[in-house]
Amino acid sequence: MSSTLDSHPRAKRPRKDEAVEVVRSKIWYPDGTVVLQAESTQFRVYGGFLAARSTVFRDMFAVGQAPSGEDCEVDGAPLVDLYDDKAADVEQLLDALYDWNFSKAPQKSFAQVSAMWRLGKKYGFDDLRNDAQQRLEACYPPTLAAYRKHQLGVKTSTLVEPVIGYVGMWVDAVKLARETGLLSILPAALYLSTNKTSQRDIHEEILHGVSAPDGQRFQLSEGDKAVCILATFELIKRQWEGPYKWVTGGWALHSAGSYKCTGNYKCREVFDTAKSCLGGLIPDVDPLGPTIRGATGLCAACLENVTAVVRKEEEKLWQDLPGIYGLPSWDEINKEMERISGPAST
Ligand SMILES: [Zn+2]
Repeated sequence: MSSTLDSHPRAKRPRKDEAVEVVRSKIWYPDGTVVLQAESTQFRVYGGFLAARSTVFRDMFAVGQAPSGEDCEVDGAPLVDLYDDKAADVEQLLDALYDWNFSKAPQKSFAQVSAMWRLGKKYGFDDLRNDAQQRLEACYPPTLAAYRKHQLGVKTSTLVEPVIGYVGMWVDAVKLARETGLLSILPAALYLSTNKTSQRDIHEEILHGVSAPDGQRFQLSEGDKAVCILATFELIKRQWEGPYKWVTGGWALHSAGSYKCTGNYKCREVFDTAKSCLGGLIPDVDPLGPTIRGATGLCAACLENVTAVVRKEEEKLWQDLPGIYGLPSWDEINKEMERISGPAST
């Protein structure tokens, strides 16, 4: 946890002249020992409990930085100004700390997880930050092995993500990652935003955003719109040169291998048919998707060879994925995540 001065809460600024009415949150323990204020909402909680969970609050209370004086108190409790945090985020954070049912819930909303990550990182609530990171990485995996498992769950409709999904969550995830340095989820979040349907639909969705049933619209930043659109062209190119090589290379690629085809001319026909069918189409922009479809009817040796070719190309593509979106390499991303939260546990 890096605790810069900027990340510390500070003594409450007097707000006598301010017209905004201060309101009390539902999180208000009458015998609490400290009052937090975010925007115009106040929360009365226990300072010792915050200090036990947060390195920043622990330091603040330990060295006597807690504010004092009439202007800095509410009903005798010191007032701490969380001056650039959103009240909704602070409420989610305190719910995560104080509400047992909340903390044990197998699925949390994106707003809850986002607040746990954002404020957990800022104030050193390490367990909440780690929980949030794990949940978000389960939705947007930072390794190819985890991504494959995730997609298998999607394909078989058995996927239960630890974050309650909604239309446009990927947009919010990309924005959160950009704002807070959660680089580990960015490659998959950006990839999953550009691998859905046809190239035309992808560009439509990226350029104009997506709408929830209630009319709420989700749009990437202008910078990320450009990044995603340029990436689709690169993905299409990589798709043909990489995982679809088993089709474009055809029988010549496979018959040149050292394995022994046991299907004689039948396998050759399968390769030729796949090439003539897929070669004339523009497939989904999804080079990490089910690119082996069409291989039905191959002998076991040919299928094994095709699978090996595709897997090897997927590995190469995954390594290059951050670069396709203008991000640092996986090695650099992993180093940055270790700097924030310590070495990965997996
Ligand atoms: Zn064969």
